[in-house]
Amino acid sequence: MSSDATLPPPPEPGERLEADAEQAVLAEAATAVDGLAAEAAVTPLDVPRRLLLVHAHPDDETIGTGAVMAKYVAEGAAVTLVTCTLGEEGEVLVPELAHLAADRDDALGQHRIGELAAAMEALRVTDHRFLGGPGRWRDSGMMGTPPNDRPDVFWQADLDEAVRELVAIVRQTRPQVVVTYDSNGGYGHPDHVQAHRVTVAAFAAAGDPGYAPGLGEPWQAAKLYFTAFPKSVLQQGIDRMKEAGETGFFGVDSADDLPFGNPDDEVTTEVEATEHVDAKMAAMRAHKTQISVDGPFFALADGVGLQAFGTEYFVLAEGERGPGNGPQGREDDLFAGVA
Ligand SMILES: [Zn+2]
Repeated sequence: MSSDATLPPPPEPGERLEADAEQAVLAEAATAVDGLAAEAAVTPLDVPRRLLLVHAHPDDETIGTGAVMAKYVAEGAAVTLVTCTLGEEGEVLVPELAHLAADRDDALGQHRIGELAAAMEALRVTDHRFLGGPGRWRDSGMMGTPPNDRPDVFWQADLDEAVRELVAIVRQTRPQVVVTYDSNGGYGHPDHVQAHRVTVAAFAAAGDPGYAPGLGEPWQAAKLYFTAFPKSVLQQGIDRMKEAGETGFFGVDSADDLPFGNPDDEVTTEVEATEHVDAKMAAMRAHKTQISVDGPFFALADGVGLQAFGTEYFVLAEGERGPGNGPQGREDDLFAGVA
């Protein structure tokens, strides 16, 4: 069910003609569904709690939701990660690997498949996939940069095709809870914005019996969450780092100057997973080309303590809010009221 090894190899750019694309997608999805029927009795649909996360690039899953992923795996839930691109346009922070960058060998994507696999091993997540298969859509680069306009990037993806790919996965894995970014993609990166659009559309379409019946039995997930970061928590981090004489988190004095962060009262859900901070940090280290141990995340960890990394925050976007057993009446569990 899980590994990328079972997925077809990525198409060469331009290999698939427009007209063939839909048929190819449907054929692949049908194969996936056939495979499911044979395995359905054993895994993972007999697992009571099932969580699906949709992220834009390898490393986003760890930074934003690594502790929660590790926690739910440890508790026996089925956790599926869908990553939309290989992160080909990422900046390479390891000097020996600088040649992999998009403007040199352009080989970062393949390398990051390995980094993601190592990170998932650290989090014990066995079911991780790339939307449409590895390399189907390329990293679009930061908003306003030339890669945005390449025809093969996720920002330029045919939304219908991308949604069908995700619907097939939703109908196959039947999650009660789906997690992605808010409409700004958290901080405005085009691939994050696109991940939001595709996930919101697929969340609804998967449950619609009239939508693409060939992609499997309809499945309506109960809840859709967007990842969040309360401004007060960010401000606390900034303040403590300043007290400790650090230069500051992303070099700002106020959480209002950060390109992300949510007003506290918007945040509906706060999941405490401090037991899994070590796994999250190990997963961060696995994304070697992307996350520097000297960078702001590790500086923040030193500054405010690892505790801050073990709590992850969300905004409930669809579905019914469960009991507010967490701080400030927030839900303390993504499955609250559901399973
Ligand atoms: Zn990203």
